[in-house]
Amino acid sequence: MRITHRIGGKPWTGTAERTGDVYDPATGQVAARVDFASSADVDEAVAAAKAAFTGWRGASLAQRASVMFAFRELFNARKAELAAIVTAEHGKVLSDAAGEIQRALEAVEFACGIPNLIKGGFSENASTKVDVYSILQPLGVVGVISPFNFPAMVPLWFVPNAIACGNTVVLKPSEKDPSAANFIAELFAEAGLPDGVLNVVHGDKVAVDRILEHRDVKAVSFVGSTPIARYVYETGTGNGKRVQALGGAKNHMVVLPDADLDLAADAAVSAGFGSAGERCMAISVVVAVDPVGDELVGKIRDRIADLHVGDGRRQGCEMGPLVTGTHRDKVVSYVDSGVEEGASLVVDGRGHPIDGDEGGFWLGPTLFDHVGTDMGVYTDEIFGPVLSVLRVSTYDDAVEVVNDNPYGNGTAIFTNDGGAARRFQNEIEVGMVGVNVPIPVPVAYYSFGGWKDSLFGDSHAYGPEGVHFFTRTKVVTSRWLDPSHGGINLGFPQNT
Ligand code: NAD
Repeated sequence: MRITHRIGGKPWTGTAERTGDVYDPATGQVAARVDFASSADVDEAVAAAKAAFTGWRGASLAQRASVMFAFRELFNARKAELAAIVTAEHGKVLSDAAGEIQRALEAVEFACGIPNLIKGGFSENASTKVDVYSILQPLGVVGVISPFNFPAMVPLWFVPNAIACGNTVVLKPSEKDPSAANFIAELFAEAGLPDGVLNVVHGDKVAVDRILEHRDVKAVSFVGSTPIARYVYETGTGNGKRVQALGGAKNHMVVLPDADLDLAADAAVSAGFGSAGERCMAISVVVAVDPVGDELVGKIRDRIADLHVGDGRRQGCEMGPLVTGTHRDKVVSYVDSGVEEGASLVVDGRGHPIDGDEGGFWLGPTLFDHVGTDMGVYTDEIFGPVLSVLRVSTYDDAVEVVNDNPYGNGTAIFTNDGGAARRFQNEIEVGMVGVNVPIPVPVAYYSFGGWKDSLFGDSHAYGPEGVHFFTRTKVVTSRWLDPSHGGINLGFPQNT
């Protein structure tokens, strides 16, 4: 099978100079080949988006909202098909893919409210007989560059708000699981989105670099690993673009001595191993405050033993494979290095039973205890089913560990002490905080974003900050002539 770009509302008909393999991670087989865009192919997509901009920015708010509502209906009706596409290329189990799509739907529903969201302000008689008002206008062509781990949800964090605000889009999804983006673009076309408003180009760094340097691209929303996010931010802003670049993570779950340890162990296992740990909000570090360490580690170990790992299409599987063989090998190398560095390997995922084809990119859930902050398993974002437990003596030590970490995407505290939780939310230097909630992904009417090395730029993704990112404000000061007008005054305008 061949997967190609969608430009100007149609599948691309050219011949790609380069292509990439798309795997079925549960079998390890190449399932398709995806075209990699050249700079010229990106130029073609940007030109289509630019040509569509004038008409689309002129579409009324009612028309734009109506397309969003139509898309919402189609998306909701066909979400099972999309979940199957996500599972086939990403590997996450079907129920998890369905969860991703449900959260994506929330972002679409938010954008359906665009007429209300894009209201400006109006001040009557700011000066005598002078009115002042603000208008939120679209930017033009915007680029969206997304990672492999949420091939449906992350594009839909940005695309609905971007187009509802009147922009046109060039979307460059991950080359590892490219089909979800095409499915979404086809549904938008069916929903009545004019040709050229949403274009999809596939590929790698070549396509990304062209988006970052193209003078007709006014803004870029990026999600991916921290080194690439930093590069995208620096290059994009260096080229005069507005950029929001969300990066990687190392999310800590702090467990205080008064916590319900069964609840905490359930949460650690769900948030650590869901989607095989390939979530930017996955819990990768449990910070156990004395004396809970031994009991908590025992409870997590017992729960891991029961996890059903296998082909995400099979009934009952709770955790699927890693996305590629290369990535699986990299994650396995961390299991080796953790042992070499002196962490205690409590559960070795390499021996976990697998309900799937032996060629799949498997690694079972792995648990390390007595991890130190100087070990690679702690300092690096592993992005796989490897959970580390760090033991500390006090609440203050736990906060220090989290705040010293360069990442600041998500964190959670497990406790029954409201005062401690309240202090934590105040003191912790992380953008998204859960109180007895391990994966605190904000609902669509808030905004998503980490701090420190987990986000470069000023705007978080989706929600009100998304609308802010995809619009620029114009302020109009107006006076309509009436008989009192007249006279020359060279002084700076003052309000009277
Ligand atoms: P990645 O950084 O490898 O790729 C992200 C995007 O950048 C892809 O579209 C890819 O084609 C492109 N890209 C890759 N290398 C590039 C290069 N050298 N130059 C230019 N572009 C390049 O990330 P990934 O492996 O696809 O996704 C996993 C990462 O994304 C993890 O680090 C995860 O934490 C992060 N992530 C963060 C969030 C968040 O909201 N902060 C959400 C999801 C994923």
